[in-house]
Amino acid sequence: MTNQQNVVVPEAREIAVAAAETADSPTPVFPYPLLSKGGGGGDEFSLPDKCLPRLELGGNGGSGRINVWLETMKASSPTRAKEATAAAAISSTPCIADQNEHLSWMMRHPSALSMFDEITSASTGKQIVMFLDYDGTLSPIVNDPERAFMSDAMRGVVREVARYFPTAIVSGRCRDKVYSFVRLAELYYAGSHGMDIKVPAKGSSFKKISGKAVLFQPASKFLPMIDKVYKTLLEATKSTPGAKVENNKFCVSVHFRCVDDNRWLALADRVKSVLKEYPKLRLTPGRKVLEIRPIIKWDKGRAMEFLLESLGFADCNEVLPVYIGDDLSDEDAFKVLRNRRQGLGILVSKVPKETSAFYSLREPSEASFCLSPFLVLLDIFVYAHYITRDT
Ligand SMILES: [Mg+2]
Repeated sequence: MTNQQNVVVPEAREIAVAAAETADSPTPVFPYPLLSKGGGGGDEFSLPDKCLPRLELGGNGGSGRINVWLETMKASSPTRAKEATAAAAISSTPCIADQNEHLSWMMRHPSALSMFDEITSASTGKQIVMFLDYDGTLSPIVNDPERAFMSDAMRGVVREVARYFPTAIVSGRCRDKVYSFVRLAELYYAGSHGMDIKVPAKGSSFKKISGKAVLFQPASKFLPMIDKVYKTLLEATKSTPGAKVENNKFCVSVHFRCVDDNRWLALADRVKSVLKEYPKLRLTPGRKVLEIRPIIKWDKGRAMEFLLESLGFADCNEVLPVYIGDDLSDEDAFKVLRNRRQGLGILVSKVPKETSAFYSLREPSEASFCLSPFLVLLDIFVYAHYITRDT
């Protein structure tokens, strides 16, 4: 799966990414059924259409389908009204239908905060490796993506977590940008949806394989194309109030966060028109964002596997990967964990969503206060590790 020619620094060593087929992986620890093969299994790194519809502009997608992923983008970007409905579902005066839907979803994806015993059991004798999305997970979703800062409290907890476990940030952002937000040198970083991975030679005591620094950029040949489409999209969207185009090095994001709802379709049409000239790029929807990425078989799930192998945990039963994220692109990692029958996928969401994650967390990390459920969860991981480290 890994192509040595894609390793772009001379001193980089070859790393074989773990194979997707892990039928003999450890027994799952979860008290509810995993997805069937038809519901997310198999060797291909793709989700069922209803979970992650993609408009392959260079392929057989295209006209007529734009409303499908616009609806998907809206569905993954809960409005305040939807969040209020979700809150009502667990209040004392809920709508019965909403309450039933929410409870049913929570049965399938219980709160990670209620799973202390399971976390403790699953981590016994194993090395936890933590993978964290950034936007909507470590930082709040804000109108200006340039100001998606994480709180000092969150940074402190992540720093503490990284003392115990190898910890990686896996983000759609440019790697340098997400590092400028996190500012923790001891972490691993995978930017551009995993297409820009840096594994430092030094700086982490967890790396089981000693060696040289690794920079893995499987989409490096697309750099000129990405730069060109970024400039074209800037021009094509400048007349839409609130539209923002972000160059994330190996992918481009067109943000809809500040665009009036009644302009979404026209903006999406403009983006689509631009992409017609780039058959080797594809569009994927996210939370109030359209992502433009190279058509390569690489995503956050594969990035997670690459990092596990880089850390020396390939085909290893003594590891417990934990991935926490909030968006459609994180589903690729959740799906890998399901297929491996190993690890914990945790979706951050206030509303029920189709997901391959095992557990859920209601609150994103907009914590300027220290009692955020997210922070409590990370404390649980540290405590579980502490009480099981000698077993
Ligand atoms: Mg996110």
